[in-house]
Amino acid sequence: MTNVLVINSGSSSLKYQVVDATTGIAAATGLIERIGLAGGRLIHERGAAGRSGAETTEWQIDAADHTVAVEQMQRAFTELGPDLADMDLAAIGHRVVQGGARFGGPVLVTEEVKQIIDDLADLAPLHNPPNLAGIEAAQRAFPDLDHVVVFDTAFHLSMPARASNYALNAAVARQYRIRRYGFHGTSHSYVARQAAQFLGKRDSDTNVIVLHLGNGASATAVAGGASIDTSMGLTPLEGLVMGTRTGDIDPAVALYLSRHAGMGIDEIDDLFNRRSGMLGVTGHQDMRDVIEAWEAGNPDAELGLDLYTYRLRKYLGSYLAVLGRVDAVVFTAGIGENSPDIRLRTMSGLDHLGMGIDPARNLERKPGVRDISSESARVRTLVIPTNEEWEIARQTMEVVLAPGEHEPRALP
Ligand code: AMP
Repeated sequence: MTNVLVINSGSSSLKYQVVDATTGIAAATGLIERIGLAGGRLIHERGAAGRSGAETTEWQIDAADHTVAVEQMQRAFTELGPDLADMDLAAIGHRVVQGGARFGGPVLVTEEVKQIIDDLADLAPLHNPPNLAGIEAAQRAFPDLDHVVVFDTAFHLSMPARASNYALNAAVARQYRIRRYGFHGTSHSYVARQAAQFLGKRDSDTNVIVLHLGNGASATAVAGGASIDTSMGLTPLEGLVMGTRTGDIDPAVALYLSRHAGMGIDEIDDLFNRRSGMLGVTGHQDMRDVIEAWEAGNPDAELGLDLYTYRLRKYLGSYLAVLGRVDAVVFTAGIGENSPDIRLRTMSGLDHLGMGIDPARNLERKPGVRDISSESARVRTLVIPTNEEWEIARQTMEVVLAPGEHEPRALP
């Protein structure tokens, strides 16, 4: 009994997957969009995504809230299969974005845990409330199953104080819980473990730099299986250049815009998080469109790619310095897995650091872990497809098998 129903509940969408925590094979995957809005739809894929025999069905539905969305998900399983009653579900695993300083790993959902997730809503107002709505809807629909939460921040709670603190006034930082939390933790931990396995090493002996490059992007320095630094901070705005986010920017830009452009806080939030990054510099959010524009000679696209990869190289360099020995640099997520151009720009001219990629290997497309390092490289460069659902399922099973070993931490 290792099948887990994984639920990722956002403000207007709910993604779900039934996945075998041991093998990672998905029996069904689905997405419900436009929750709370008119013109919603449900897309349900029976069978392992992308494999032969997978069947996709699309329904036009209206889901007024997360409770209705979960009911529609149940209806999809009943009418389109596989029947959940035959899946022998071990538990339900929920993704929650912000776990604050209380969760260094997955936990069983209890009233206390839900209360803490709710208390953390100030830190993640767009994410924790819908995450919690999804948990409560699923608890009503599946009252007899264990529900487990896996936090995006948990993997980074191992960061030492020098990496997790800002040099901000200590009293203010403490009062408002301002510190660097980091995100994409399930992806970073999954990919780091896959890398160690591929290299034939124990997690505890493996140091890697993981570059999770999707629409959101973050870099993590992983030492002996634990995150020791990551590029996102209090919020996902910090760090790398992203699809629509600036990444690192002098905070005084916000002050300047407020004083001289008369912009309000919400406007600056929107500017930094949704109208900047690749979109703001090149006019394109999707890296495929940026690369197409660059191939057509567009100078904004050239600048965008240059900014994007230059920032990546700066993080790579700093994580090399803090880690000391590095076994591998790993590219993952939409851009990391699929863009040879970004990988090549990022890794070129680093021979003096014992790194480099082989241009032909970089262009190969095949499933699974790929070693794209040049022959002479001391540090491997790997491409590893991330699989957050499998990681959530795996961590969910850890809790189901030993719930007492996974408790919220005491307040610091
Ligand atoms: P994710 O957030 O991991 O789903 O990644 C989504 C992003 O991956 C998209 O916004 C695209 O920019 C990027 N992406 C997907 N396929 C490619 C590709 N073949 N080349 C470049 N970027 C890609």
